[in-house]
Amino acid sequence: MLRLWGSKPTELALGQEFRLRNAGATGIVGQKLGEGGQGAVYLCDVGGRQLALKWYHPHVIQIDGTLRARIERLISEEPPDKRFLFPIDLATIADRAEFGYVMPVVSGDRRPFSDIQEAGPKRLVLSLETWATVCYEIAESFQNLHTRGLCYQDINFGGFFIDPIRGGVLICDPDNITVEGLLGGVLGARGFMAPEVVRGEAIPSSRTDLYSMAVLFFWALFGWHPLHGRQHAAIGARTAETLTAFYKTLPAFIFDPADDSNRPPGDDPFFVWLGARWAAMPAGLRDLFTRSFTRGIRDPDERVVELEWRAAMARLRDAVARCPACSFEVPLEPAAPGASQPTCSSCGAAVARPIRMTLGRYLVPMLPTRQLFAHHVDGTAAITLRDSVATVDVHPTDEAIVGLRNLTPAPWQGRTGDGKAVVVVPGRTIRIVDGLGIDFGRREGLVAAADQASKSAA
Ligand SMILES: [Zn+2]
Repeated sequence: MLRLWGSKPTELALGQEFRLRNAGATGIVGQKLGEGGQGAVYLCDVGGRQLALKWYHPHVIQIDGTLRARIERLISEEPPDKRFLFPIDLATIADRAEFGYVMPVVSGDRRPFSDIQEAGPKRLVLSLETWATVCYEIAESFQNLHTRGLCYQDINFGGFFIDPIRGGVLICDPDNITVEGLLGGVLGARGFMAPEVVRGEAIPSSRTDLYSMAVLFFWALFGWHPLHGRQHAAIGARTAETLTAFYKTLPAFIFDPADDSNRPPGDDPFFVWLGARWAAMPAGLRDLFTRSFTRGIRDPDERVVELEWRAAMARLRDAVARCPACSFEVPLEPAAPGASQPTCSSCGAAVARPIRMTLGRYLVPMLPTRQLFAHHVDGTAAITLRDSVATVDVHPTDEAIVGLRNLTPAPWQGRTGDGKAVVVVPGRTIRIVDGLGIDFGRREGLVAAADQASKSAA
């Protein structure tokens, strides 16, 4: 076999030509981007267009008898939404038994989700609002996938790239996406697999995807695994066998309110932070995680579905304040009028809420660039982060003045704090002040002034 210097026998050489089946075009292999268990990914050039080429290892093709049919099916289908990087075309090379596929390239400003496990400066650190947006986007994507009768089968860190500024996601590694009820190429990644799959009692499905998604979301918000408590720390030698045995035993959730046998395994600063982070989360979100890893770990019918995650994450991303004393992130929730200021669950300082609008179960700070979406102003509308219905604008000549602009085609009925009626016609802005009420038609929003900064917060 011809072997180029420095390359392994299965590796593709720089400049190697390959053929695209449907397009009939020729591509040129470029720089290698990375390598995983199934194959390697290269940059490539197809008629001047830069794409990524995934090229499978020969042994993977031998073992996985349905791989080619799965890839061909994905090529023939439109992705469930734009966040999934589906294969575009099948790639082959003359006289080679392996194959691969081309897909869009992930731009360099995206960060791999897996960087959340890194130590030091390489660790992926995002604000809580951004993580909530990431989880929202993933839940919405998987809802679209599952609605199509498909399941992903292998949700883990490796499949996601994140826009660290806006929280957008790209979902790659579609290789195992399969019609519900059929086995793909893998059973999943350790730590993310549903227990019934670990025990060999079920094959991956949309319901096992829901379990894996809950693990991924726990990682996103807490930077830790939901079952890695004292029982995990007590495992002696960490081998494939001992770790698999651990997940088979259905360990307790580290924050299970009814079972403290597997609490976080230490009291170093990270675990102190983890406990405070858990305490700070809105009760409804804590309930979703608790259900996921108590009843939901045993009973697939009890698992949290995408729509529940979307609702919780949409609320979480709306309003996170920072503790004035220690910078800890404190999610804000609607409170009864006159309720006392929230306190930081890390240091106990009072946290001043900004000027904000309460709309049913939503609380949205009225800060520049904030947006309202359909679900904010209409309790019957689907939750969405697209097509805003209102935006918070700064006055063109006085930055201290902010207003809410009506982006809908219908007028809003408003009422100022002193009871004066006002109409906000489409395209116009109303000044945001304490006591302002706006009737959006199906729901009212009420503005409350910012809290006075606490003098004892030092
Ligand atoms: Zn604090």
